[in-house]
Amino acid sequence: MRESKFVGCVVGLAVGDALGYPAEFRSRAQLVREIGPDGITGFVALKDPRFSRPFFVGAGHPPGTYTDDTQMTIAVAESLLAANEAELDGLMTEMSARFVDWSKSETNNRAPGGACIEGCRKLARGIPWRESGVRESKGCGAAMRVAPIGLFYDDLEQVAEVARSSSLLTHGHPAALEGAAAAALMVALALKGVAPQEMFNEIDRCCSSHSNDFAKVWRMLPNLIDEPPERVLVEGVLGEGWVAEEAVASAMYCHWRHSNDFRQAVLTAINTDGDSDSIGTITGSVVGVYLGVDAIPAAWRQEVEDSDYLHELGRRLFRKRQGTAAT
Ligand SMILES: [Mg+2]
Repeated sequence: MRESKFVGCVVGLAVGDALGYPAEFRSRAQLVREIGPDGITGFVALKDPRFSRPFFVGAGHPPGTYTDDTQMTIAVAESLLAANEAELDGLMTEMSARFVDWSKSETNNRAPGGACIEGCRKLARGIPWRESGVRESKGCGAAMRVAPIGLFYDDLEQVAEVARSSSLLTHGHPAALEGAAAAALMVALALKGVAPQEMFNEIDRCCSSHSNDFAKVWRMLPNLIDEPPERVLVEGVLGEGWVAEEAVASAMYCHWRHSNDFRQAVLTAINTDGDSDSIGTITGSVVGVYLGVDAIPAAWRQEVEDSDYLHELGRRLFRKRQGTAAT
């Protein structure tokens, strides 16, 4: 258990998110045409003058700005730290309050997901956390924010259970719950040093029986690992990542192919047609924890928004886990 892995996870997910921000709602073809032959290869402002089509949000967002994915992940992490060893209900009550605060914050101007906003609206009205989520939504908004849960608990059953519960606040569809469980398990397993093939098997055992939608996409992965990203992520074999099972399977594909190269993994994740920032966030969290913070290019580590806070958040989660292990 090394501090560098916890910091790598938190900083890595924010880096993946920030790299992907300008790529969300833009196709790979557009990125290649307007930015360069490899698409995005570093932090680019949402309103970079090279983009032909203006964007409806993002005024004043410089290169390195992260999005709602990282904001909600921070809310999850701070809830885990604040709730301490509280029972599930206490933890989810804490998380609900932090989600509502985020939804009302003036920094919530980075293309947040509809179900996340709707769930927060219901939580703010006092609807209990088990009922506040949009029942039919399987958007990736729950999967994108659960990395800290994978860092927090040692027991894999508990990781999956808390991740599923955290989905319920905003997303109630079984595929959203299993997507969240899978994304948290990817982090928990990478923290234990589990290699991608075994990670795939473990998550399949834990999640596929609970959601046919999830199983269908997840089980395509072994046959796609040798196929190029242009076919898998751009021509949309795994979909565009807007829904949970597509986002986590896409991130798993990037990790599986490039588990020893953080830069290549996240650039593969974000130079896609679909929900680039969320695929980038999940990929950054898992490769970041697998390799540790030093595997993230130094410029990205330093230039990502709130770099100091994110590094410290990783260290706080590490200290918490050490403290738990000691008792
Ligand atoms: Mg986002």
